[in-house]
Amino acid sequence: MIFDTHMHTELSFDSSEKITRILEEADLRNLGVITTEHKDLNYLEVGGFPIDFDVDEYFRRYEKYRSDTYLMGIELGLDRRYTDKIRKIQEQYDFDMVIGSMHTMDGINLSSRKYFREQDERAFYRTYIGYAKEMIQDSPFIDSLAHFDYPTRYSGFSELRYEDYEKEFSALFKTMVKEDVTLEINLKRPLVGDVYHSFRSIYKGYYENGGRYVTLASDAHVAEDIGRNFDEAIKLADDIGLDICYYKNRKRVLCDR
Ligand SMILES: [Zn+2]
Ligand SMILES: [Zn+2]
Repeated sequence: MIFDTHMHTELSFDSSEKITRILEEADLRNLGVITTEHKDLNYLEVGGFPIDFDVDEYFRRYEKYRSDTYLMGIELGLDRRYTDKIRKIQEQYDFDMVIGSMHTMDGINLSSRKYFREQDERAFYRTYIGYAKEMIQDSPFIDSLAHFDYPTRYSGFSELRYEDYEKEFSALFKTMVKEDVTLEINLKRPLVGDVYHSFRSIYKGYYENGGRYVTLASDAHVAEDIGRNFDEAIKLADDIGLDICYYKNRKRVLCDR
């Protein structure tokens, strides 16, 4: 079964979806699902509002639904000033999967269009990919690295290509392989046009540097979006030779199909 490893429900600040609707849709689509609510401990100071949820409440309310096809995860915002706290959270609770996300970079909010207006594209991307490598070294306990294209969505910059930042990407991917962190395929945006070519070059580059595993991630905030763009992503992974996996009890499981 294929697993959708990244989605949000009403426990995340930006979703009002019910877990029961998620489970109904997953069943209809014959997908396994992992909920990954947002926790960005640094966001109040960086973005001006808290992005948090009560993990005890999460387990209190959702644990009863847990099964072979419904697993419980979390999406943790990476920031070296909060590494100890983040490490403790993922140790303290019985998550199946922990996603690491870079919504911020050294105190900068990466969804801030104003910030990007003053940045040089190439210089920014070099710094960003280098920062991703540092985040893996800083928080090697995460299972997967989410949406590398997050800043592209807000900056208006060109789509990333492996060839354009080969040195930086190669160093990042080698570090991910060494720390056994999986590269997520985030499917919030359809895999067409420039996005497709960007993803193709980056996942090929990941493979060339020893990367073998990917997770599929709709990043759904409503049940209808579960599994979005998965057919294209499966084809991409198959073309390159990457294995699709998910995490259960913090262990990688290959999806059998
Ligand atoms: Zn995210
Ligand atoms: Zn998310």
